[in-house]
Amino acid sequence: MKNIDSNWDVIVVGSGLGGLSSATRLARAGLRVLVLEQHVFAGGYAHHFLRKVKGTDIVYDFDVALHQTGNLRPGRSMHGILSELGVLERIKLNEFDIAYRTKGPAHDLQIPADADAYADLMCREFPEHAGGIRDLFETMRKIDGGDSGGLTPEAMATMGLTLQELIEQHVKDERITSIFSTLWGYIGLVPSQVSAFMYAMMWNSYHHGGCFYIQGGGQALSDAFVSVIEDNHGKVLLNTEVSKIITEGGRAVGVETAKRGTFRAQAVISNAAAPLTFDCLLDQPELAAADRAVGDALPLACSIHQAYLGIRGDAAKLGLADRGAFFNPTYDLDAEWEALERGDYRSQGWLAGNHNIADPGHEPPGRSVLHVATMADGRLWQDLDEQTYRERKAELENYFIERLSELIPDVRERIEVCETGTPHTMNRYSWNPLGSIYGYAFTPTSHSVLRPQPRTSVPGLYLAGAWTFPGAGFTGTMISGHNTAGLIFEDFEGRTAMGAQ
Ligand SMILES: Cc1cc2nc3c(=O)[nH]c(=O)nc-3n(C[C@H](O)[C@H](O)[C@H](O)COP(=O)(O)OP(=O)(O)OC[C@H]3O[C@@H](n4cnc5c(N)ncnc54)[C@H](O)[C@@H]3O)c2cc1C
Repeated sequence: MKNIDSNWDVIVVGSGLGGLSSATRLARAGLRVLVLEQHVFAGGYAHHFLRKVKGTDIVYDFDVALHQTGNLRPGRSMHGILSELGVLERIKLNEFDIAYRTKGPAHDLQIPADADAYADLMCREFPEHAGGIRDLFETMRKIDGGDSGGLTPEAMATMGLTLQELIEQHVKDERITSIFSTLWGYIGLVPSQVSAFMYAMMWNSYHHGGCFYIQGGGQALSDAFVSVIEDNHGKVLLNTEVSKIITEGGRAVGVETAKRGTFRAQAVISNAAAPLTFDCLLDQPELAAADRAVGDALPLACSIHQAYLGIRGDAAKLGLADRGAFFNPTYDLDAEWEALERGDYRSQGWLAGNHNIADPGHEPPGRSVLHVATMADGRLWQDLDEQTYRERKAELENYFIERLSELIPDVRERIEVCETGTPHTMNRYSWNPLGSIYGYAFTPTSHSVLRPQPRTSVPGLYLAGAWTFPGAGFTGTMISGHNTAGLIFEDFEGRTAMGAQ
């Protein structure tokens, strides 16, 4: 391997979407940026893994995370950010009219991506609540604020509310609350606990900004970022663990790596989890005592159980014709949450998806790529001995296959590849504590500006990604990275590179 320069303008620790988007914006502005990633793929959760079917040349390509992402219609935030970063032209998008299917005790609905069509559908289903439903959808539109990007009065008014409180300002019916909150797994908390504001931002990103899948999955997006960084004289080094963020005179000045020595820079962005950054990476943790105190007071978001399956045959014809289908055993989502907390995934709702519909042609010929998931409490998968872990993982996998058999009766015989991820798996590859997939939880008191700030109290040290403002998911972390780069431009004010911004 060629020698890598040891001096850079900015070093980014971690190549999740928060890290990559900040690095891309900085590199395009002419700053010299080095991204250091411990894993063998770039992208953090936005990466893929390949599995060959034994004794054949058949290879399945599994997308670790992406079910769908939003706000990619022209004029919407992610469309703007990805075009500004030169990434949009390097990816191909599939857009869908149906956001997802939801099936519960007394409904089975295909939810339109378009907010008006969705409102019409709900009014037809619940005519006795049509007035309240229209008001609720109108409030969501006002919270969204269109393409202005600013916070509307309606958005401000949701800041301290839970989603359930917001919904019940307009309509009180457990079925409607449950259906309207179907996407709670995409933000990690049920309506009685989740921030109304954050749920609305996510909901609007799909129902006003469009439901998208990226051809080739999250890895294609991550690779596009890497190619833009490297075309702009940056470098993304994989397999390179940062062991320390070095400070001098109270200022972050570089990093030490486990295998490649020391790199210095004027600024360090950590895309690693905030608790890891402050407690394990920073050479003098006391410098970030104030940031740690903010983070220590916040709950962690949940993790996920997810099985990735490759099967023989066309799943759409065999019984799973949905890109994403949520199956809920109850309208009582608090009961589901209690089941999650005690590890009783059999009593939780579950999600199944046919990736052939999200990304047609990406599957091996004559085969289907499927996923099944339930949300999970990462604490329940900590510190298990090897045998217990293996047994519990095998049980979980068996459960997922049982569930899929309800849709595709002979699925077990059709499976060529099956990999199951637990919170432990999520932690193992991303190094996020408890395998959290959204950083801190999104309660009304732990969202957006209430998280540790991207400009930390240690001069020269910044955060980007799910653990900081504004939050998680593909869109949240890319907005975070873009925002953090903007703070560095401000702090580097006067530098010649600024002209290229
Ligand atoms: C199964 C699953 C499904 C999901 N589905 C969706 C979805 O459909 N839509 C959506 O919007 N979001 C989804 N998400 C959430 C989304 O993927 C994440 O919120 C987002 O990708 C997190 O990005 P991040 O920037 O915080 O970094 P992360 O993805 O957490 O990456 C952090 C990176 O830092 C690296 N790192 C950490 N410490 C070090 C170190 N010391 N040295 C070097 N490198 C280090 C890690 O290896 C990792 O690559 C899903 C997540 C999962 C796991």
